[in-house]
Amino acid sequence: MDHFIYRDGQLYAEDVPLAEIAAQVGTPFYCYSTATLTRHFRLFDEALDGVDHLVCYAVKAASNVAILKTLAEMGAGMDVVSGGEYARAKAAGVPGERIVFSGVGKTREEIAQVLAGGVRQFNVESEPEMAAISAVATEMGVVAPITVRVNPDVDAKTHAKIATGKSENKFGIPITRAREVYAEAAALPGLKVVGIDVHIGSQLTELEPFRLAYEKVAELTEQLRADGHEISRLDLGGGLGIPYARSNEAPPLPTEYGQLIKDTVGHLGCEIEIEPGRLVAGNAGILVSEVIYVKSGEGRDFLILDAAMNDLIRPAMYDAYHDIIPLVEPEAGAEQTPYDIVGPVCESGDTFAKERMMPKVEAGDLVAFRSAGAYGAVMASEYNTRPLIPEVLVHGHQFAVIRARPTFDEMINRDTIPEWL
Ligand SMILES: *Cc1c(COP(=O)(O)O)cnc(C)c1O
Repeated sequence: MDHFIYRDGQLYAEDVPLAEIAAQVGTPFYCYSTATLTRHFRLFDEALDGVDHLVCYAVKAASNVAILKTLAEMGAGMDVVSGGEYARAKAAGVPGERIVFSGVGKTREEIAQVLAGGVRQFNVESEPEMAAISAVATEMGVVAPITVRVNPDVDAKTHAKIATGKSENKFGIPITRAREVYAEAAALPGLKVVGIDVHIGSQLTELEPFRLAYEKVAELTEQLRADGHEISRLDLGGGLGIPYARSNEAPPLPTEYGQLIKDTVGHLGCEIEIEPGRLVAGNAGILVSEVIYVKSGEGRDFLILDAAMNDLIRPAMYDAYHDIIPLVEPEAGAEQTPYDIVGPVCESGDTFAKERMMPKVEAGDLVAFRSAGAYGAVMASEYNTRPLIPEVLVHGHQFAVIRARPTFDEMINRDTIPEWL
């Protein structure tokens, strides 16, 4: 459920007509709904009722500081994967003890930054990284709390580019080697083992892979405890999928996921962390774009939009499907026509949808890409020197630009001309 619905024939974000925002900020733009964001966060939080837990929002899904602050005010923790994301979480007012630092390639600079600013734990991805964290912590005279990310070798049954839990993926330490690696961690002076971490992939539409992974983590918890390690915290990662095509997808609900967590690891008495990103932000955001031209082709018409692959790369990168709907509500039973929906960038990959059936639209009409809140704005680039598009946050009747569109001068002035020119 989200808060982008038609009212009186117009698409609204909560209580604001999207056409009004378009008139003020220009297209294309991303728009997020506070009510949807907070609702999704609360669903996860409530799904773990009765268990000591912290929901750590995966900042990489949508990292605008206004979004982070909205969630932080509800008590969210944050899962960050870079020094930049850590700085964003801090800028949103999240205390270090609620920030988890994940990611396969933490640099010494990032490790030092996070140790200085405070961190809940490092999720360690390799032995060399473990040694680096210990060395930096020792130099700084502190002890770094860590979990080791284990790779449980389960098939997440998702798109290859976002599966992370098979042995051939670059993530974590093979679960079969975990006891050895924990012994090494315990011997390093700058580290304190606090738990285990696992994250098997993104956009999972079934619970079974989670079950397989969490059962393995439960078994490992008992083994590591028997080896003398203190395992008081389990970070179970993110990855729960969302429905992109409204009509025919029904991924598991956070309540079912929460129940699965209680069933598989609830008996261990550990504090539970989860790191949802997509499910919190995905359906809380849309991308609004204007039809520049309708061009007749051979056997098909092209809708040429002012949004392009640099603004929303998911279709080009993951073959992702997004519902695309007009801002003016089509009449019931309106005739549908097939369009290839494309952007203006000089690449054939700049195609959002092929032969998509939708009601007829004309140049100047506005359309919205649904479910664009996660891995949308954060993956945008300025390819073709197209400015990063604005982000807008709606809250009831109010809306605010939470990131403005840069001017051409602002973009160009980041370049510097060497003195020999
Ligand atoms: C990407 C990622 C997440 C979030 O995944 P979603 O599918 O957006 O829920 C959580 N944890 C880690 C370690 C990640 O890399």
